[in-house]
Amino acid sequence: MKKERVLITGAAGFLGSHLCDRFIKEGYHVIGMDNLITGDLRNIEHLFKLPDFEFYNHDVSTFVHVPGDLKYILHFASPASPIDYLKIPIQTLKVGSLGTHNLLGLAMAKKARILVASTSEVYGDPTVHPQTEDYWGNVNPVGPRGVYDEAKRFQEAITMAYHTYHGLETRIVRIFNTYGPRMRLNDGRVLPAFMGQALRGEDLTVFGDGSQTRSFCYVDDLVEGIYRLLLSNCVDPVNIGNPKEITIAQFAEEIIKLTGTDQKVVYKPLPVDDPKQRQPNITKAQEILSWEPRYDRSEGLKITWDYFKSLPKERLYEEAHHRDFIN
Ligand code: UDP
Repeated sequence: MKKERVLITGAAGFLGSHLCDRFIKEGYHVIGMDNLITGDLRNIEHLFKLPDFEFYNHDVSTFVHVPGDLKYILHFASPASPIDYLKIPIQTLKVGSLGTHNLLGLAMAKKARILVASTSEVYGDPTVHPQTEDYWGNVNPVGPRGVYDEAKRFQEAITMAYHTYHGLETRIVRIFNTYGPRMRLNDGRVLPAFMGQALRGEDLTVFGDGSQTRSFCYVDDLVEGIYRLLLSNCVDPVNIGNPKEITIAQFAEEIIKLTGTDQKVVYKPLPVDDPKQRQPNITKAQEILSWEPRYDRSEGLKITWDYFKSLPKERLYEEAHHRDFIN
């Protein structure tokens, strides 16, 4: 029987690669697409030998062509760490806006259902806590995070417009902080930063006084939530994340305990517009998708630590790569 075909953009990234694995496992033919500006082929090289996996090296901010049918499109291409936004701000804006527009057009042409990856960043530095989907957010459009936050807000707007105007089948997931194997070691995100520092024998860098909070979701839980949302009939945005909230200072302590490092915590200035608190309200996902996270942080962190420990030593010293790119 011919398999149903799904296009996953950002396929070589952290989340995209885990989604490729999941859809292969579910029996789909997966077409992965990535321009490798922040993605890494090492995340998906185990898939290349499979007959049900194809890879296109392509920037979705330019016209996207995929031959054949598509049942689903999952748009996960985007830089996703504050360091990335600073280095490649225009690309970040383009992939969320032009890239989304191209993929919506492709979904129309293929009569495919499209799910777009939005983010808790649409809530900005939130004044409502925990964040429910009906909160509109507190975003600085011209700050360093504005290129990401506003691209994602535009992405939600254009996706909803394609649904209401064209009747396109659309889904929007608002992803909160997620961690797990295949995160980029040197992209500046807090978990790979701390684990990389532990492995290199460096002090752990806590930004600000460490009182800001985040709520960390293990990647397999996130993928399960996304899979359920795609198959559901929910068009409105849905938060997917783990509501267990923790301060960054506590998080550093947990990592020190887990990794057995005898390094200290050192304090560095808090980045501009760094949200003070973040915690998803997941009532909607619980009710509509019967979904909630299953992994405790201790369990997920252990798997992630084992992954980082297993990497060849030289990868610990790789610069965060951004393939040369013309904005
Ligand atoms: N952070 C930190 N030390 C680091 C990297 C990040 O204390 O080496 C802090 C950062 O300021 C933020 C939190 O950890 O408050 C989460 O940062 P990340 O970049 O992982 O995600 P985001 O800010 O987008 O939630």
